[in-house]
Amino acid sequence: MKFITKFYEMRQLVEELSAKRKTIGFVPTMGALHEGHLTLLRKSISDNGISIVSIFVNPTQFNNPQDLEKYPKTLNDDIQLLEKEGCDYLFYPTVEEMYPQEVKSDKWDFGPIGNVMEGKNRPGHFDGVATIVNRLFEAVPANKAYFGKKDYQQLLIIKSLVNQLELKTEIIPVDIVRESDGLAMSSRNARLTETQRKIAPNIYHTLCEAAKIAPSFGIEELKAFVKNKIESSKEMSLEYFEIADANTLEPLNFLDKNKPTMGFIVVNMNTVRLIDNIQLF
Ligand code: AMP
Repeated sequence: MKFITKFYEMRQLVEELSAKRKTIGFVPTMGALHEGHLTLLRKSISDNGISIVSIFVNPTQFNNPQDLEKYPKTLNDDIQLLEKEGCDYLFYPTVEEMYPQEVKSDKWDFGPIGNVMEGKNRPGHFDGVATIVNRLFEAVPANKAYFGKKDYQQLLIIKSLVNQLELKTEIIPVDIVRESDGLAMSSRNARLTETQRKIAPNIYHTLCEAAKIAPSFGIEELKAFVKNKIESSKEMSLEYFEIADANTLEPLNFLDKNKPTMGFIVVNMNTVRLIDNIQLF
């Protein structure tokens, strides 16, 4: 695997590879890699001639400075995992490379999908995400880019960004990868204490129960069920559980089994913020 830190070197290389008719798959990450990231990479490797992973902890998408400061960094382990999978290039730029002028987000308008849930609770988060993904796509104008459904709202934001900018990169969604006990894999899981880690799978178990009972419940009853279940543990505090249209993220007032519907959850365990989602209909 080749290691590239310079923006223009990366861009030039992708242009050369494309000129040689290689198809390029791109997996943007913030590092501290786990099976979730590696699943995206494996999909890229099976779909494309060349696969590029980026590791960049983007300061502008963190609305909480503590979260940024405590974000796990495991570069040596990450490199070993990528080598083992057969990744072709690791793009590992500095903050100065990605933000040569000022470390600041551009302003974006994604309509309703940008204003609910993560958009509402983490002001500026999606402006930061869109700014960095746009810049990463400038460095790596890939044929396909891979994003996890774990960050479902982010996936829709990136699809919208690609449409708005008329980029040629195809966005490929990848299903959530879970630990054997159901906890959605996340770089942040490493920050859970042993006790918190034992309790954390309750998030997914609660979502599964909610999906099971949804056909016979009303929206408010279902929300109350999830809140009670989560908060029955004093280690967990529910930031939100939203039920929304799977395509528009419009919050729903009633459940309709003929409409693609998702449940979205964020739970805080002390300072660790865990996100997950499930299809309800
Ligand atoms: P991150 O490093 O957390 O920014 O994630 C990089 C990419 O990996 C994003 O597209 C995430 O949605 C995806 N990802 C992270 N965790 C998982 C997971 N457990 N399952 C599937 N995709 C994931």
